[in-house]
Amino acid sequence: MKIIIAGAGAMGMRFGLMLHEANNEVVLVDGWKEHVDTINAHGLKANFNGEEKTVPLKAYLKDEVDASLRADLIILFTKAMQLDGMLKSIQSVITPETNVLCLLNGIGHEEIIEKYVKRERILIGNTMWTAGMEGPGRAKLFGNGSIALQELHGGDATVAKDICKVLSDAQLNAEYSENIRFAIYKKACVNGTMNSLCTLLECNMAQLGETATAHDMLMGIVSEFSKVAKHENVDLPVEETVNYIETACYNRETIGLHYPSMHQDLVKNHRLTEIDCINGAIVSKGQKYGVPTPYCQLITQLIHAKEVVLEAK
Ligand code: NAD
Repeated sequence: MKIIIAGAGAMGMRFGLMLHEANNEVVLVDGWKEHVDTINAHGLKANFNGEEKTVPLKAYLKDEVDASLRADLIILFTKAMQLDGMLKSIQSVITPETNVLCLLNGIGHEEIIEKYVKRERILIGNTMWTAGMEGPGRAKLFGNGSIALQELHGGDATVAKDICKVLSDAQLNAEYSENIRFAIYKKACVNGTMNSLCTLLECNMAQLGETATAHDMLMGIVSEFSKVAKHENVDLPVEETVNYIETACYNRETIGLHYPSMHQDLVKNHRLTEIDCINGAIVSKGQKYGVPTPYCQLITQLIHAKEVVLEAK
């Protein structure tokens, strides 16, 4: 399959590498010139589960893409705040036949994608794969993961299932989901609690779990997600979701010592965050549906304030 990865950061490199190794024709598109130039000059380099790999992928700068670049599938892997700009830059390659899969974290990306892509061609999903960017042209790819996806229009699932097969043939473990909106909301609850609170408190997830107020904060945040989700016909039980997050994230023996990606982006690397598509999306949707969202509103404001204090770019 001819595949364009639009947004070739840590996750885009993982997907690009694995899909290339499964004999797909993969092209990367990105907005970071040094990164694109390095990949074109030296190949995409990765530490893949301890093994050093170099794959000869072609990369394009997003503003240099033209209609000659065609693909059966575009996989979107920008950060949320880069999505609109990426789609605008690559619109000449999006034909009525191009399928577009969005695997970004967060809620509501389809509203942006629909400005550029026919609804029938949009697939949404989420992924449990992880990846780290080590520098221009270089990724650190450890562990295992999975993908769940579904067509946005909720109709014929043939294309979505074909794409699952292409991804699974590349060992990316993709499954068709009958209820992807639930999976997206559930993951957004993890990000809307662990990412934002650990970033504000500058702590890892186990440390957050040891605070006396963590449980109440999680209940408050998740209940706002749940009330908004109900307006979109997604049933997100509050206690069950909080219990899932606490069980999955606080364990000191496994993942609890991990600092979530928003902490790494903002506190460590002074990069802007995806807060507007996580807690911020709940605030906007809450305003639309008449649902008060004081926890998510304060968290969004505090993260944006911290971006200013840390001069994030
Ligand atoms: P990323 O930050 O690695 O890359 C996103 C974009 O930022 C790319 O275009 C990249 O080139 C650019 N970029 C990265 N570092 C840069 C630097 N130092 N200077 C200039 N530009 C730079 O993002 P990601 O981690 O691949 O995430 C993409 C999407 O996938 C996000 O929505 C994220 O939430 C989601 N996601 C990430 C992971 C993960 O483990 N990384 C896991 C699941 C979902």
